[in-house]
Amino acid sequence: MTDYPHLFRPLDLGHVTLPNRVLMGSMHTGLEELGDFDRVAAYYARRAEGGVALMVTGGMAPNREGGVLPGAAGLFTDTDIANHAKVTGAVHDAGGRIAMQILHAGRYAYSPECVAPSPVKSPISPFPPAELDEDGIEKQIADIVEAARRAQTAGYDGVEVMGSEGYFLNQFLVTHTNKRTDRWGGSYENRMRLPVEVVRRVRAAVGPDFIVIYRLSMIDLVPNGSTWDEVVQLAQAIENAGASILNTGIGWHEARIPTIATSVPRGAFTWVTKKLMGEVSIPVITSNRINTPEVAETVLAEGCADMVSMARPFLADPDFVKKAEAGRSKMIAPCIACNQACLDHTFEMKIASCLVNPQAAHETELVYAKTDQPKSVAVVGAGPAGLSTAIVAAGRGHDVTLFDRADQIGGQLNMAKQIPGKEEFHGLVDWFGTMLAETGVTLALGTEADVAALAGFDEVVIATGVTPRDPGIEITGGDVVSYIDILTGRHKAGERVAVIGAGGIGFDVAEYLTHDGESPTENLDAWLEEWGVANPGEHRSGLAPEGPKPSPSPRKVSLFQRKAERPGKRLGKTTGWIHRASLQMKGVKMVGGVTYDRIDDEGLHLTRQDGTVELVPCDTVVLCAGQESDRRLADALEAAGVSAHVIGGADVAAELDAKRAIDQGSRLAASL
Ligand code: NAP
Ligand code: SF4
Repeated sequence: MTDYPHLFRPLDLGHVTLPNRVLMGSMHTGLEELGDFDRVAAYYARRAEGGVALMVTGGMAPNREGGVLPGAAGLFTDTDIANHAKVTGAVHDAGGRIAMQILHAGRYAYSPECVAPSPVKSPISPFPPAELDEDGIEKQIADIVEAARRAQTAGYDGVEVMGSEGYFLNQFLVTHTNKRTDRWGGSYENRMRLPVEVVRRVRAAVGPDFIVIYRLSMIDLVPNGSTWDEVVQLAQAIENAGASILNTGIGWHEARIPTIATSVPRGAFTWVTKKLMGEVSIPVITSNRINTPEVAETVLAEGCADMVSMARPFLADPDFVKKAEAGRSKMIAPCIACNQACLDHTFEMKIASCLVNPQAAHETELVYAKTDQPKSVAVVGAGPAGLSTAIVAAGRGHDVTLFDRADQIGGQLNMAKQIPGKEEFHGLVDWFGTMLAETGVTLALGTEADVAALAGFDEVVIATGVTPRDPGIEITGGDVVSYIDILTGRHKAGERVAVIGAGGIGFDVAEYLTHDGESPTENLDAWLEEWGVANPGEHRSGLAPEGPKPSPSPRKVSLFQRKAERPGKRLGKTTGWIHRASLQMKGVKMVGGVTYDRIDDEGLHLTRQDGTVELVPCDTVVLCAGQESDRRLADALEAAGVSAHVIGGADVAAELDAKRAIDQGSRLAASL
């Protein structure tokens, strides 16, 4: 008897029955563009082995002009088809199924060749699109249909036609991007003609025994987006045109409302998909911020959808489904929705991976092989670097002891989990705890490891982390504390706070200080109100007419940095704007280009970039001026002639984050 009866109900699609209700949603990894299709095949096959019912590939371009970037991968040549056949073969051998997503970016393409219904430049690409004429539109349809046909030749089980997130087909649907007056514009019947025609012709080309998923934008979250009646009308027309499944898209990429970030409540948009249930007779899939079997089961049990889509959780743990089925959910490595190693990498033109699971998309190169020479390994420091070293090394068969002077594991992760909107970090620390027990790591908490205690181990790993940097500002009075004092709850800040340092931690501290009571991430209604999301049945596009309504901050907070650039500029590519917008909504003043003069009982004295001297009156000053490596133990070992591996913040403190710490720890452990 499974814990998740709705999740593990088979789904009959007519020509094929899916074994469960889990779709691995499309996630661009960048692997296809590398051209190493053994690696692409290994990535998907690994996930097929994990028991997911159906996977969707990252977006494949139907033609040059539709690619998200110049050189975007697609099935253009016979060689491409042969390469993709390698992928589908590996997936089928592993017992899985895979559909290829066809993604035409339209005006979102980062390319001077981009095309769109009308020449309306998108705010997220510098290139104005060329307006398509009738022949141009026919060419786009033909190319999408040809891509589907080639996907079928390559052995895919289906295709997903990307019709949401503000991409090409979506751009035809709304008047903001479609100004046409011919049969492809004007009335809604005309504006939806292209997506419907695409699905109709794809179905005609591939025949009945092939899955055709249409990803439909259920809530655009941009001004002048679709109404709910239009969404339903389109969904019914897409069903009639021959789609097998409707998948949900939430928000255009240019929307200024977060839709997948960690501060978005779990399952935040499943209520939108639920509105479509009963309006069509084909299965409907819901998505966004579903990351545990419990959430997935609840969503299905509540009738929000026939199936759930998860993309990033399969980077974090390819065995998500298998573990849930076996009653081992606690062992599922959680996707914390940070975007740090997946989407941020994609936008930085790097291969996507996962902060929690550095093996993701590196399956052929980062291998945790069982050891035939078990060693005794001491790991000092139970932060992310030490924890990942310990579980990977112990999982490989080494005898690992993990020391930490604190009486709990987690290190800096324990501070991250205090931040409103970062509650997912609780799950990450809990998972590390589960895995320590599972792999048999001996825990020595509350233990200050010294040179003597480490003598006798075959391998010593120092992951002692960081200490806060003292910015060396003259302090003659006032309440001046470190971020650690605030985030551990040891110190309560006053009502007027100046935060020194606008890095990740400065932003986190400002977020922490501007909230009171329950985090909106834990309260969906409050979160929707805070960001101005409304019922799309009542308000076009799901935008509340009165806009965002943040709850007032209990404190007046100012955030400073010395660099003369926009504070928060260096935060994550896909999440930095959310942190900035969130603080702006709370009235936080963010100032760059300052010099700190001194802190006294009156507050923080500083000089602005233009030479103006200013007193920032405040009750508390919080120092978030970066960190320095804690190398005390590493140095003592070196002096005693004991060789040790130094990793994480103890190795290099600058720009250290959990992603680098976990990656370094896992790679070291793989090599021991
Ligand atoms: P950080 O990102 O390096 O930022 C340090 C801040 O302190 C900067 O704003 C810097 O700006 C300032 N600073 C540095 N030296 C200073 C000095 N001597 N006097 C005064 N100010 C000084 O470090 P962090 O904020 O401590 O974060 C540590 C790591 O955790 C970072 O890598 C960060 O990415 C990661 N983290 C990430 C997130 C996230 O959301 N992804 C959240 C928390 C932490 P100026 O030099 O311009 O003054
Ligand atoms: Fe999830 Fe972060 Fe991993 Fe991306 S990097 S899959 S968001 S945990």
